[in-house]
Amino acid sequence: MNIISQIGDTPLIYLKEVSELTSCDIYGKAEFLNPGLSVKDRAALSIIENAERRGDLKKGGTIVEGTAGNTGIGIALVANAKGYNVKIIIPDTQSQEKFDTLIALGVELIKVPAVPFSDPNNYQHVARRIAEEEIKTNPNGAIFADQWNNLDNMMAHYTTTGPEILSQTNNQVDGFICSVGTGGTLSGVSRYLREKKTDIQIGIADPKGAAMYNFFQNNRVEPSSGNSISEGIGLGRVTPIIEEIDKVDYCYSIKDSDALHYIYNLVKNEGIILGGSSAINIAGAVNLAKDMGKGKTIVTILCDHGSRYQSKIYNQKFLAEKDLPIPEWLKN
Ligand code: PMP
Repeated sequence: MNIISQIGDTPLIYLKEVSELTSCDIYGKAEFLNPGLSVKDRAALSIIENAERRGDLKKGGTIVEGTAGNTGIGIALVANAKGYNVKIIIPDTQSQEKFDTLIALGVELIKVPAVPFSDPNNYQHVARRIAEEEIKTNPNGAIFADQWNNLDNMMAHYTTTGPEILSQTNNQVDGFICSVGTGGTLSGVSRYLREKKTDIQIGIADPKGAAMYNFFQNNRVEPSSGNSISEGIGLGRVTPIIEEIDKVDYCYSIKDSDALHYIYNLVKNEGIILGGSSAINIAGAVNLAKDMGKGKTIVTILCDHGSRYQSKIYNQKFLAEKDLPIPEWLKN
């Protein structure tokens, strides 16, 4: 057994409060229990093993990626276990906990100012340029993981997350909903479930300021108003992975202040500590349950562990600065 074999096959957790609230059975796929504490371990493993299979990555080679953090952590743990080097390009606004984990894993960490995707200095463009240079010059070879465009990301969820959800619900799943960072999870899971259950209903839970709500609801690539403190989600453009999604049945644009209380209640009443994107997902699952009606089985994704955000959504000062509700037990 090695650590890589512990990626995936995560439990499906019954979410009591929101199930009772909606008279549906709402389950969360516990991706925060992956070894890197997030859903992105699956994408990292798929991208690396497919590159190996194609012969693009050989022992001692380097993997370059632009990431909000979790993909980098997933890549680093798989790479360390397999003998590759890692270069991570990350916006400097991500949580200190993610930087610390990447540093602990021994990656080369390149922090860049957070600028919009339209700016050539956006971390994703910087990562591509560094990867192109590395591919040209590294004698041991290199790859650009390229999670937004690389369909191996989506395939991780088509071949693992989707089948696990179907079997863990005994084929009884009626609805699936999640947010979009790259869209790998939504695209891969929804494609698999649609193939196996023609009446499955697919939802998207989009944070404020992202463009996927308008894209799937109104066929316009336009950001919703407002913004979100959630990390790892909120896509502003249509990528090859998004193009793979042929239809979304229910679209929701979700405010942080309408979502965070779900994860605080999960901490206090159900013993689960999650990050902010899981809050958006659970709020989406509640909306989907209400719209589909009582008695349905709805699944969403519990994307990453809350320990990644102790200095943010579990910190009174941060919440006060952002004018967000502060849970009682975090007040002092
Ligand atoms: N939540 C978190 C915390 C993430 O880091 C990511 C990935 N960036 C997602 C959700 C979204 O996953 P995907 O890239 O598969 O859309």
